[in-house]
Amino acid sequence: DAVNARVVAAFEAEGADVWYVQGFKEKTLAGLHDPDAYDQIFDVLDVWFDSGSTHAFVLRDRADGTADGIADVYMEGTDQHRGWFHSSLLQACGTLGRAPYRNVVTHGFTLDEKGMKMSKSLGNTVVPQEIIKDYGADILRLWVAQADYTVDQRIGKEILKGTADSYRRLRNTMRFMLGNLAGFEDAERVAVKEMPELEQWVLHRLAELDVEVRRGYAAFDFQGVFQKLFTFATTDLSAVFFDVRKDALYCDAANSLRRRSARTVLDLLFHRLTTWLAPILVFTMEDVWLSRFPGADSSVHLQDMPETPSDWLNPELAAKWVGLRAARRATIAALEVQRSAKVIGASLEAAPVVHVEDAALLAALKSVNFAELSITSAVQLTADPAPAEAFRLPEVPGVAVVFEMAPGEKCARCWQILPDVGTHSHPCTCARCNAALG
Ligand SMILES: [Zn+2]
Repeated sequence: DAVNARVVAAFEAEGADVWYVQGFKEKTLAGLHDPDAYDQIFDVLDVWFDSGSTHAFVLRDRADGTADGIADVYMEGTDQHRGWFHSSLLQACGTLGRAPYRNVVTHGFTLDEKGMKMSKSLGNTVVPQEIIKDYGADILRLWVAQADYTVDQRIGKEILKGTADSYRRLRNTMRFMLGNLAGFEDAERVAVKEMPELEQWVLHRLAELDVEVRRGYAAFDFQGVFQKLFTFATTDLSAVFFDVRKDALYCDAANSLRRRSARTVLDLLFHRLTTWLAPILVFTMEDVWLSRFPGADSSVHLQDMPETPSDWLNPELAAKWVGLRAARRATIAALEVQRSAKVIGASLEAAPVVHVEDAALLAALKSVNFAELSITSAVQLTADPAPAEAFRLPEVPGVAVVFEMAPGEKCARCWQILPDVGTHSHPCTCARCNAALG
């Protein structure tokens, strides 16, 4: 200990090269040991041995009681495959008989928008602090999550604009849920079996995603997690569930089964989307969570991802809804043609005739409220052969749509065009709205 103390003091005062100064051995041992009984060693210990040994002093002696000296993750650039990861592996195999890590995460390097290496002389360096200043830290985090970090990634103004756009769309998804969950209470909840099929289908998708999200995070596949959630938020929620359910959420009576079912599912969605996205959109999800559950001790980051009941999985229903959504796409596309031509302003002005060749699909369409699904005021479903001029989508064979205007007057409350508008005690309303007004 006394010798070591002298070595340490000498290193601190004069640097490690003091070892090579003539007479260092004698000076260090003087009065403690006979210098002639010792050989001073001048071999160089490989720098990789040093870095490869870090687990021994960083992990082994941790005081947190849970550590077994094995790291959960070693993370570094791909250049460390033959460097740090490798020297750590060799060193730990010698001392522990196993790798010092459970996982190795390696990443590529960040290039500019054109795929060029960043350098000060080229002036193409993107500084994280500036991105944070311009866009906020969550955009930078989202960019990382969107990238395949296992290879080199690109960053620049145009790429960040795309990231900001994805962010805005997700934010809108959360905002829609927050708005439509205002005042939600447990008493409103509807059992899954009593919900319309649309809600049951959303729960099926949630059960699928639950598995995929957990598996993705466990494998450090942030890109996979984000892509699956983003696709779900945009194509399943915004384009279908929210789009279809706006009408019930805004216009149904507060106690309608349809509206209560939608709100029950929105609540289940809320708890999952916020906790699933919290590791990526740290600040935004906290913001969203606190908007609904304010309080000094409240935080989305203290929430576990909720367990998802396995009986939400419903592959039969999902298969049926593949067909329903295809027919919906064809119908909406047919109405879009009329909207572009200014024949109608909104799809609710239409009551299309949908010709369906496949008997099973026709039965499926008849088993749900297809007018509601296609956001029209009425729809006719028929097995009759479609006229040649009917609208068809090449990717949806066997479905043809003939446009017709919806008969009746426009309800001043829900904007559906229905024959009974104007026949109720509340003026200019349909039967549903009249009842909702009480
Ligand atoms: Zn109405």
